[in-house]
Amino acid sequence: QDEMNIIFGALDLTRKTAQDVMTRIGDVFMLPIDAKLDFGTIAEIVRRGYTRVPIFEGDRQNIVGILHTKDLALVSPADSLPLKVLTSFHKHPVCFAFTDDPIGSMLTEFRKGRSHLVLIRAIIQSVDRDPLYRLVGIVTLEDVIEEIIQAEIHDE
Ligand code: ADP
Repeated sequence: QDEMNIIFGALDLTRKTAQDVMTRIGDVFMLPIDAKLDFGTIAEIVRRGYTRVPIFEGDRQNIVGILHTKDLALVSPADSLPLKVLTSFHKHPVCFAFTDDPIGSMLTEFRKGRSHLVLIRAIIQSVDRDPLYRLVGIVTLEDVIEEIIQAEIHDE
């Protein structure tokens, strides 16, 4: 039965899209670029427990970086380091995909190893103009793997 689920899950790689597996943008834990890495902020990051945290400037639609929480290992809360300083030091790439991209092609991107968190944009149709985008969610490798094995992965 488990094997069958994996096979059926793998068959979905071309049919299922980013939209089907994404975490909605409203549920994404992000930080503003002007945050200070003081005790309160670091405690909140630890409490949320995510490996990667998108960083926005101005509004949540405008993602300018990704914080990897392991980057905090050598940061002392007493220094209240501006998040901007840490972000410009590490410069993790910000990767995008579209709502209707098949999860199989996202898996290919993940395997290239550039980023394991992809921001998902929807194209808002606009006649005779450049297309407008709206940030609607995120997808990580875990979301895709979960779909393949057709089961919730329970975090340790
Ligand atoms: P983590 O290692 O942080 O647990 P995973 O890549 O294993 O993250 O993904 C676990 C789930 O958490 C996925 O559904 C993913 O979309 C979601 N997720 C990852 N980062 C965030 C975040 N910053 N805010 C909200 N959800 C997130």
